[in-house]
Formats: sequence, C-alpha cells, structure tokens
Amino acid sequence: MKLEKHVVIRGIIFCDTGLRIGGSKDDIEIGGMDNPIIRHPVTGLPYIPGSSLKGRMRSLLELKYAERTQQTGQPCSCGRCLVCKIFGTHKARESHLGPTRIIVRDASLTPESLDELKGSNQEKGIYFSEVKYENLVDRKTGKAEHPRPNERVPAETKFHFEIVLRIFEGDNEKEILDFVKEGLALVQKEYLGGSGSRGYGKVRFINTSVDDNPFTIGEGK
Ligand SMILES: [Zn+2]
Repeated sequence: MKLEKHVVIRGIIFCDTGLRIGGSKDDIEIGGMDNPIIRHPVTGLPYIPGSSLKGRMRSLLELKYAERTQQTGQPCSCGRCLVCKIFGTHKARESHLGPTRIIVRDASLTPESLDELKGSNQEKGIYFSEVKYENLVDRKTGKAEHPRPNERVPAETKFHFEIVLRIFEGDNEKEILDFVKEGLALVQKEYLGGSGSRGYGKVRFINTSVDDNPFTIGEGK
C-alpha cells in the first residue's frame, strides 16, 4: 500500500476536572503515594500517554459503531470496520485493511501549566499533582472510613496533544478524519483516564487544528 500523505491534528487537552491516569508504584516513588499517577520516567512530570487517549477513543467508537463489541464487550477484531482500519485490528489478525492509520503522541504539559504546577508544588509540597482523599462509606454504619488518597492532575491543567493520520492510496481521507474527530468528541462527552463515573477526567479539546487549519471538536461532524 502506498502512503500518500499525513494529516496532523493538534491542540490542547484542557482538564475541566482533576485527571487521573494511573501509574505504577514501582515507577517513581514521590511522596510514597498508594495510587500514583503516571509520570515521565526522566522528568517525573505528569503526562497523558498516547495509548490512553487512543484507547479511550477506540473503546467509545466501538461502543457506538462496532457490532462485535456491542455483542461481546470485547475490542473489535473484525478486520473490516472503520475502527479496525484506523486503530488497528485488535490482536494480530490477518486483515486486508493494511497498516494502522492513527498515531497518537504522548501529551505533555504546556509551558503555562508547567509554571502553574511549579508554583503549587512550592506552596503545598506536591510534585506537579494534587491528592484527593475519598471516603468509603460503610454501608451498615453509614460512617466514612479509611480515606483513600488518590493522586491526580489538578483541574485546569493543559497538555499539548498531537495525532497523526496516515492516508494511504485509496483511503477516504474525509471519512477517516471525521471518524477520529468524532472519537475526540466522544471523549469530550465522557471522560479520560480513571474514575470518570466519580467526576474525574472531564476534558475539552481546545485550540484544535487540522494541518494548522482551526476547527472545533463536537461541532458538525
Ligand atoms: Zn472491526
């Protein structure tokens, strides 16, 4: 298959609420958190892994468009639908769809957010994040017990994101682009990262552009 061109979507992920993308306790031990967020291995700064955004877009698009997912609850591996075409066939399965069309880069803090979080770091001693304590309520006694600390990126934090689409000969560029835009719109309607049903991870994609031409997520299709 002949690669014809790349289409680049850029913008900012703006956190309307705290965002929690879980990391591993083994990665970096800062503040000894039980539930640490994922951080860059070298700088220790929070970031949004491309795989998190890609996976979230994919699973929401599957819920809406992939019959197989709707029936089985499993990621689609039909090798025919637009999800499989753009996001890759789940599991290495023979498919005539060719290479995965989407590349989602890791999203790093904007310089502005970096400065703001640096300030709060100095004030509160938290390393570029916040800690939210959540109470578990005992169903019998009605008493709150064991406040559980959850680390998260504070509301109003901004990350730069970039998505590259690979357009091959014979591809319908508009169809692919519209599908990916819809994926972003669905994430915006729902949430990114963990604990979305408890209000975490409400994000907006702002200052968005396609090959440097501005567009707005969620308007039209
Ligand atoms: Zn499929």
